[in-house]
Amino acid sequence: MLQRTFSIIKPDAVSKNLTGAILSEIEKAGFRIVAIKKEFITKREAEGFYAVHCDKPFFNGLTDFMSSGPLYLMVLEKENAIADLRKLMGATNPANAEEGTIRKKFAASIQENAIHGSDGEETAAFEIGYWFAGYELL
Ligand code: UDP
Ligand code: MG
Repeated sequence: MLQRTFSIIKPDAVSKNLTGAILSEIEKAGFRIVAIKKEFITKREAEGFYAVHCDKPFFNGLTDFMSSGPLYLMVLEKENAIADLRKLMGATNPANAEEGTIRKKFAASIQENAIHGSDGEETAAFEIGYWFAGYELL
C-alpha cells in the first residue's frame, strides 16, 4: 500500500551541510518527495509538534534544539513508508543505530540525531497536517 510519512532533516544535519547527502539516501531507498520546505521554527511550534513528549526530561532541550536553526520539513511517499523510513533512520541514539542507517552515518548524539520520522499512521497524519496544507502535497 502506497503510504505517506512525515520527516525532518534536523538543524544539526542542516548546519553540517548534510542535507543533500540525507536526501540522496532517502531517494536511493525509493521514497518520492511529496513536499519539502526549509523553515526556522519557533520554540512554540516545536513544543506543539513534540507535545506527546511534554512530560519527558529531554523536552526542553529537544525543543530548544529544534528551534535553534533552519531545518527541512518533508512529506515522503512509498510502499510501507512509515516503517521503512524508521528502518532507514536507525535507532534514536546513534550509538545504537545499525550500520548503514542515516543516524549511524550522520548523527552526533541522542538529541542531535539528524532526522525525524513518524512512528505510526496516526502520528504521520497529525505531523503532515501540523506543517503542511493539502495544496502543498504534490
Ligand atoms: N531525544 C533526546 N533524548 C532522549 C530521547 C530523545 O534528546 O533521551 C530527542 C531526539 O532528538 C529524538 C526526539 O527527542 O529524536 C524524539 O524522541 P523519540 O523517542 O520520539 O525518538 P525518535 O522517534 O525520533 O527516534
Ligand atoms: Mg518519535
